[in-house]
Amino acid sequence: MKKRKAKYLSTLSFSILALVMFGSIASADYWGGNRKGGPNPSAFYHSSVNQYGYTGAYDAGRGYWNANSKVNITRTPIYNAIDPPDTYYIGNSATPNLWGQIAPTNSSGNLALPDEYWVYVEVTMYDNNMRAAGHQPANVRYNAAHEIGHTIKMAHVPIPTNSVMVQGWWAIPASITSYDSGQVDLKWRTFP
Ligand SMILES: [Zn+2]
Repeated sequence: MKKRKAKYLSTLSFSILALVMFGSIASADYWGGNRKGGPNPSAFYHSSVNQYGYTGAYDAGRGYWNANSKVNITRTPIYNAIDPPDTYYIGNSATPNLWGQIAPTNSSGNLALPDEYWVYVEVTMYDNNMRAAGHQPANVRYNAAHEIGHTIKMAHVPIPTNSVMVQGWWAIPASITSYDSGQVDLKWRTFP
């Protein structure tokens, strides 16, 4: 009787382990599909970025991910309408607590699904909502790193993951976390 119980418990533990493993595969922390430039896209800063004073925040957001050697998100001074780069904007939103969002475009020129091939991505952070939340520079930089993370296919992760891909108004880590760097390595493992 004692042995049977032990075996049952052992089988149960195995099932829970298997469930956790499959669960972590099913809910990968990055999206599928490629994008133009892979983890090396170029980004154009719309004039609203300088007007509202967010150039440094977007620079810090790029720098966060560029600390991983696979990533090189460069700033381009040229907007080519024929072959658009990613574009970063600052706007205002009527939706409370919406700090920022991205809009990826697919090969047909339409709003892309997360797992589709992306040609370029538009990133917007919302000045009015960031001001309403206190506008601390470390939080603004976190927000920029979060949205820019989406542009290289990083998806949301739950609290308490040590990642800028947790949703919310948080302070940016001093440098890229090992979790975020590891997710980049996994997502872009076949990228040269
Ligand atoms: Zn997000």
